[in-house]
Parts: sequence; C-alpha cells; structure tokens
Amino acid sequence: MDSLIPTGPAPDYLNRLNPEQRAAIETTDGPLLVLAGAGTGKTRVLTTRFAHILLSGRARPNQILAVTFTNKAAREMRERVSALLGEPAEGLWLGTFHALCARMLRRHAEYVGLTSSFTILDTDDQLRLLKQVLEPYRIDTKRWPPQAIMGVIQRWKDRGLVPDAITAAEDTDFANGRCAEIYTDYQQRLKQLNACDFGDLMLHMTEILRKHPDVLAQYHRFFRYILVDEYQDTNTIQYLWLRLLAHRDNQPSNICCVGDDDQSIYSWRGAEVENILRFERDFPGAKVVRLERNYRSTRQILGAASGLIAHNEERLGKTLHPGREDAEGEKVRVISVQDSDDEARMVGTEIERLRADGHPMAEIAILVRAGFQTRAFEERLITLGLPYRVVGGLRFYERAEIRDAIAYMRVVNQPSDDLAFERIINVPRRGVGTTGLQKMHMHARERQIPLTAAVLEMLGAGDIKGRAKEQLAALMRTLGATRDMLGREGHVVAIDHLLEDSGYIDMWKADKSPDAPGRLENLKELVRSLADYENLGGFLEHVALVMDTEDKSGADSMSIMTLHGAKGLEFDTVFLPGWEEGVFPSQRTLDEGGLKGLEEERRLAYVGITRARRLAMISHAANRRIYGNWQSAIPSRFVEELPAEHIETRGDTANSRRSFLGRPAVFGSTPFPLVASRRVHDVTPSTTATSGMKVGVRVFHQKFGYGTITSVEGNRLEVAFEKAGPKRVIDTFVEQV
Ligand code: ATP
Ligand code: MG
Repeated sequence: MDSLIPTGPAPDYLNRLNPEQRAAIETTDGPLLVLAGAGTGKTRVLTTRFAHILLSGRARPNQILAVTFTNKAAREMRERVSALLGEPAEGLWLGTFHALCARMLRRHAEYVGLTSSFTILDTDDQLRLLKQVLEPYRIDTKRWPPQAIMGVIQRWKDRGLVPDAITAAEDTDFANGRCAEIYTDYQQRLKQLNACDFGDLMLHMTEILRKHPDVLAQYHRFFRYILVDEYQDTNTIQYLWLRLLAHRDNQPSNICCVGDDDQSIYSWRGAEVENILRFERDFPGAKVVRLERNYRSTRQILGAASGLIAHNEERLGKTLHPGREDAEGEKVRVISVQDSDDEARMVGTEIERLRADGHPMAEIAILVRAGFQTRAFEERLITLGLPYRVVGGLRFYERAEIRDAIAYMRVVNQPSDDLAFERIINVPRRGVGTTGLQKMHMHARERQIPLTAAVLEMLGAGDIKGRAKEQLAALMRTLGATRDMLGREGHVVAIDHLLEDSGYIDMWKADKSPDAPGRLENLKELVRSLADYENLGGFLEHVALVMDTEDKSGADSMSIMTLHGAKGLEFDTVFLPGWEEGVFPSQRTLDEGGLKGLEEERRLAYVGITRARRLAMISHAANRRIYGNWQSAIPSRFVEELPAEHIETRGDTANSRRSFLGRPAVFGSTPFPLVASRRVHDVTPSTTATSGMKVGVRVFHQKFGYGTITSVEGNRLEVAFEKAGPKRVIDTFVEQV
C-alpha cells in the first residue's frame, strides 16, 4: 500500500525500547502474544506499535482496531499515540470491547432486528424490563429473584450463547428450567423496544459477524491490525469476536495481544485466563515475546511482589528483573495498627509528610479491596484538608444506600424534613404511588404541616388505602420507636434498629445484584461510624459538612480506588490498607471460590503492589469492626507470604487487646462504644464483646457513666448506673473499669 507518512531514518521512539520490546514492535505481521509481568512495558509496546504501524505507513489510523480494558485506558492510549505522532489521533477504532461493538452495531443493527438508533439500557432499565417479562411466568421471586435470573442471562451472554443455543442441560439450575424461555422472551422484548443491554452489544455483533460473511469480509478488509491490552481478562464472547475479526482467509492474522496471567482478576465476571494459554493454538504461527525487565518499580517492590505471587500454583511463571539499574529503592513497609481509625490516621500523616516534601498528590493512591474501606480514609483526608478523588466510584457519602440511610436518620432527627421523607417513603417499596404522594403533599400544604404529620393524619382518618396503609403505619411506628430509643439506648443502637425494622437492610439482602453485598458492607460501616459521634444530630451535622467540602479538589489530588480499578495504572506511592484475613483475601471470595478464589485474591495483591513505582505501604489492623463488632483481626496470609528480605515491619500489634483497652476512654475518639446489628451479632460472636462481663463488674458507659452489672443475658446487660439508675445496655457499649 502507499505510504501515508514518509518514513525517515531509525525513528527515535524505537530507541526508547529494549531489544525485546523492539522485537515485539518490529514483528508487525502475523499473530503475536506479549506475555509479561507487571510494569514490563506491555501497554507501552502496544501504544508504540500503534504509532509504528501508522508512521511506517502500514495502515491508516482507521485500519487499526485497538481494544483497552477501560475507557480511561482508551483515553490514555489515544493521548500517547497522539504524542508519538505529534498530532491529535482522530477517527481511531480505539476503545473498550463494548464501545467498539456499539459503534459497529449501529452500522448493522438491521441484521438483528434493530434500527441504528437503538437504545442501550442501563442496569435499572434491564431489570425493570425483565420483571415485566417475568410476570406471566408466575415465578416465586423470593426463590428466584429477577436479579439472579438477570445474572444467569448475562453469564450466557458472556459465553456467547444466544437463546437458541441454550441446551436443556444448561438450563436446570434456575426458575425450574424455564430460564431459557425467559431469556427468549426478554430478547424479544428488547427487540420490540429497539433496545440492547450491555451484553447484547458483544453478542449481537458476534452473531452478525458469524452469520454474515459479507460483513465479516468488510471488516477483514478494513482492519489490518488488531491490538488488545489486558488480554488475560477477556471473556468467551470477547474472545470469539476477536477471533472472527482476526482470522482473515489466506492471510496472516495481524493480531497482537498483551497480557499477564498473574494479573487475571476478573474471573468473577466471566474472564477466562485460558484464552491467553491457548493463543498459540488459535493463531498458528504465533510468536510469543516475553518481557522480563520491569521499568516501573524498584527492586524491593518487585522482590516483594514476585515473592508473593510465587505462592500461586496455577501460573505460567515468569521472571521479573528491575529495568532501571539505579532503582534499589526502599523496602516495602508493612505496618500494623490498632484499628481502622489508627490506620487512617497513619496514612493521613504519611501523606501530609510526603506532601510537605513536595511529592505530587496525583502520584499517591490508596488501593482498597472493598468499597466500604474508603470511608475512614475519606474522613481523615477531609479533616486534613488533603484533596482526593474516589476513582471509578462514588465518594462514600454519595453512594445511594448511604444517602438513603442518612435520609432515614434525618427524618428521625427532624420529622419535618420533607425532602428526606420523600426519599425514603417508598424505599423499600411500600405501595406509595405518584398520586398517593401528591395527595399527601396536598394535605400537608392545606394543613401547613410536614409530610410525616400529614401521613399520620391521613392514616388516622383512613385516607390511605391498600398496601400503603399498613406499610406506612409500620414505617411511622418504626420512626417513632427509633426516636424513643435514641434516649434510652443511644443513637447507634437506635439507628441500627431503624435500618433493620424499616425493611431497608432487608431490601438489599433480597437484592441479588452483584453490588448488593458491597452496599450492605457500606451500611454496616456507616452504622459503625456513628459511634464516633456524640449523638445523631452531631453525626448529621458532620455529614452535611463533609458533603459540603466536595469537589473542591483541583487537578493535583490523590486517588482512592479499588484494587480492581487500579489495573494497568501506576503511582509513585501506593498505600495498601486492610491486609487482614476476611478483608483481603475477602471472606466472600474464599467461601465461594475456594483455592481458585484465593489465587485470584493473591493476583489482586500482586496487582496492588506492582502499581507502586517507589514506595508501597501495606497495613493491617489488629482490631476491626466487622459486621459492627470488634474482632481481633489476623494479618492477611499475604503479609506472611511476602519475602522477609524485601519488607520492613513497623508497629506493634502484640497483645492488641490489652493495649486497646488501655487507651483512655476519651469521648468521641475511643473505639467504644460499638454496636452490632442484632441478627448478625448472633452469627458472628465478637471475640471481645462478652469477655469479663459478669454480674458485679463495674463498667463505664459513654452516656450513663459508671455503674455495676446486675444481670447478663447474652449480649444484653442490666446495669445499675450510679447517676442514671438501672438501664439495659448492650455489652459492647460498656467498658470494664
Ligand atoms: P501492567 O502489567 O501493570 O499493565 P505494563 O506491562 O503495561 O504494566 P507499562 O505501563 O507499559 O507496563 O510500563 C510501565 C512503566 O515503565 C511505564 O511508566 C513505562 O513508561 C515504563 N517503560 C516501559 N518500557 C520502558 C523502557 N524500555 N524504558 C524506560 N521505561 C519504560
Ligand atoms: Mg499495561
């Protein structure tokens, strides 16, 4: 083909690569797999290859198909390619699998019965639609919640299975073997609405390529080169789509995939690490290039990460050498702290110190295993006035479940808070429709009373009918009971009851969508954090102030994100908190995934450490309030597995319980009081809760002062307080003195 851009002498961009990387770029034709560890320049190879293909005149910008794992990565690659080209790169086929498929599907929508203006449904819409589809089936939705059925359909789509391809053997587990039928109807409804869900983008496009050789041939002519980043995390349908596009008749498949089996962390979303292992079989004549020099991290960080991942059995095994000879670096720090507040304080102090030394904030990241962990750090960073961003997610207090729970609290605190009441009146569903709500508003306006009072009056007068009548009466009773309980049992217990009794917690327990467990964890964390405030009013004021400090972060802010979200990124300094058994490795993954799950968690730890260029700080707390209870936490097995010569241990967790109790019980900063969700309390007995709580023991309670235990019943104590008189309290609320 004619050269688009004149080729000059040995281009400078190739000189910035090592020989292996250069080989990976100069073998432009034929299938190529770059299989290499973290930070070895895989993404750099892909980007440079992109530019090299263009600069050497092998293809025009729109003749290269490049797939990245996230939109952010796509943006970055576009910028890097533009920088190499010296001009903005336009019209590229560069994006995530979904983005690329959406673009293609708009051109061929009629083949699957859609028009080019089809809508892409979000998850809420998907579920609403599925519920409509489910109606005639009369399925026991308690047993087979729509979210779970949605999950089954999505997994089929991930595997490239259209409704007709579902065999009876596939369809036994759910809804009495009627899932395939439901799937068919659901797809039918989507078509009627001229809509697609996320999974359809890939599925439809793959079907079109499979069934219409003319379309496929068109893309074969079109795409001369295919580039794929993070290949280890492709799922079956993505793999099928790639294979169709890459196999051109009688021509080499110019497909280049880069990946690292040690960084496969999305098997829970259907990713198949095997795809990388069978590359050579799928693309005969494939070359495999291994890169062993890591240019990102210091020798110490690499040593720690490599030592850890060596504990995985299922891996290809790769060697990593430091690429920069000068980069010995500091050992990875492993810091033990007392509890999560201590951990947040420690991290905050370190960040202040780094900032004072001129460390750019944008080069610092806190990487957590689970969303709930961000709260303590966010609070601390706000207190210290350090700008931060929660990347790939919402800040703690912006999350829907947290806003709902706070709305409940606001109504308890201030019954005339109409806005808050409106937010929760039908969450969970209580049969209140738009017209019903309008009537309540009218009543409130006429009588010039708050909405809650209007509801009470209307209930009294029999003006609310049907399911709403009972449900709202129950809600009003719960709100009233909570207000009573505030004085008697304290705000933590009261709010815990409120969220349980209002059905709010149950709503998320019944929700089978993948983010529901994370939301429940966030709610537990919220209740836990209430203990840090004197009363409900104090807490709500704090939250209002926290919300107010949002979005003042300029460009130079540090990042908080999950380990999953950090894949492919790098920072000078990385904090890795919460390395405790149950948190990381996550208990849920261990329970559901067994040894495979554990290995995936270990890969996640490897991803975490290898994000750091200069310094990695791992921390673990001796005590953690899990499910609202203090439990003494065991350091993550990953801490043990880190090779001793690359780490430096700090802090002292020996006999943590004693030092923990030895701390002065200063109001507001002490780890007490604490609360347990009543139900969970039974299944997760706290190791510290009942110890020493016998009749006759003298105790201190934050609110009631000193007293002596007169009776013990499970975790409930009766205490004769010296000033406040006899009270029933939960054992975790008192401290033995
Ligand atoms: P990950 O597995 O985490 O995705 P990766 O293999 O994609 O990592 P890159 O992000 O491409 O690695 O590169 C890691 C860092 O090393 C980047 O800052 C990159 O610019 C730098 N780098 C890569 N190759 C070289 C080289 N030959 N010389 C100097 N620096 C390099
Ligand atoms: Mg990369």
